[in-house]
Amino acid sequence: MLQSGPVTERTQPASSAPRATAPADVLVTRAFAPAAMEWLRRECTVHALYGAPDREALLREVGPRVRAAIGFGAVTAAMIDAMPGLEIIASTGVGYDHVDVDAALRRGIVVTNTPGVLDDAVADTALALLLAVERRIVAADRFVRAGRWAAHEAFPFTRHLGDLTLGILGLGRIGLAVARRAEPFGMRVAYHNRRPRADVPYAYHATPLALANACDVLMCIVPGGAETRHLVDEAVLRALGPQGTLVNIARGSVVDESALVRCLQDGTLGAAALDVYDREPHVPPELFALEQVVLAPHVGSATHSTRRAMADLAVRNVLARLAGEPVLTPIPECAELAR
Ligand code: NDP
Repeated sequence: MLQSGPVTERTQPASSAPRATAPADVLVTRAFAPAAMEWLRRECTVHALYGAPDREALLREVGPRVRAAIGFGAVTAAMIDAMPGLEIIASTGVGYDHVDVDAALRRGIVVTNTPGVLDDAVADTALALLLAVERRIVAADRFVRAGRWAAHEAFPFTRHLGDLTLGILGLGRIGLAVARRAEPFGMRVAYHNRRPRADVPYAYHATPLALANACDVLMCIVPGGAETRHLVDEAVLRALGPQGTLVNIARGSVVDESALVRCLQDGTLGAAALDVYDREPHVPPELFALEQVVLAPHVGSATHSTRRAMADLAVRNVLARLAGEPVLTPIPECAELAR
């Protein structure tokens, strides 16, 4: 059984250890923490799809030998077809909407993700965005740098967090970590999931619209993919209203981005803080002109130790599968297959 915990020299087999069989071929779709990448390179033959001048040519060449794919880039049905011996797709994130799970399951390929190890970091970022947008921290910074304070202009008052209700769309692992951080600020917490939770004291709302009607700040932290596409549509944004704030740290696809831009431009929605977008790294340029909007470049989990823990877990999943052992964190859809 592979050990869990951070990768250290102690937990990694010596690179000089004799090998019984040839190292397995592994496709890396996006670079991840260098130390984990090094570990993988010691154990396997790594083919880097990211940055390859001709990705299709690389896949044609190495695809027939590849046994594992790891990273955060798209893994499409066509890519899966090009890798007839593929045994595992390991996402280096908790989200796996970039993987064609149906195509993988049809072929009996295990898909894994990295739940749990990033909850605190993402919840910290969510709170940072919430504070930044409500207390207008980024606008205040621009105000000072522009010399407006020195010119005796007054910066407008903002809202006290303790006066607000936070509506969490997706009270899962990360959503709960956000709720627990919001409570000490005095915020009331409400939420919407498909099913109410029995283990929380927060008010449940049966639809995103009902939640938006009941809160001041709507925080999105549901998974991406077809099921949650545009869960936050124009009606939800209108329900939040001119005093309402949207924070999206889930996936760009969860929010109707065109409606969001329109509602922010005409004041139908009060403010927004965004970490994720529909066509990353493209951000709708209309948002750049809006003072009441805070923008981050998809950095929810982007701390050194968190990204390292995520990458380590993904590598462990790959090595376990290649060794014929059960993977550590299969996605729920393939829990049976992963045994
Ligand atoms: P969990 O699976 O623990 O939680 C997801 C929650 O969403 C559950 O409470 C679930 O409840 C709810 N949910 C799922 N589908 C729906 C739906 N159709 N309608 C309403 N609610 C729904 O996931 P995590 O908390 O670990 O992660 C959530 C997501 O956060 C990830 O999938 C990822 O996309 C995003 N993320 C973003 C990051 C960033 O950098 N910005 C970093 C990490 C994650 P129920 O099943 O009852 O509906």
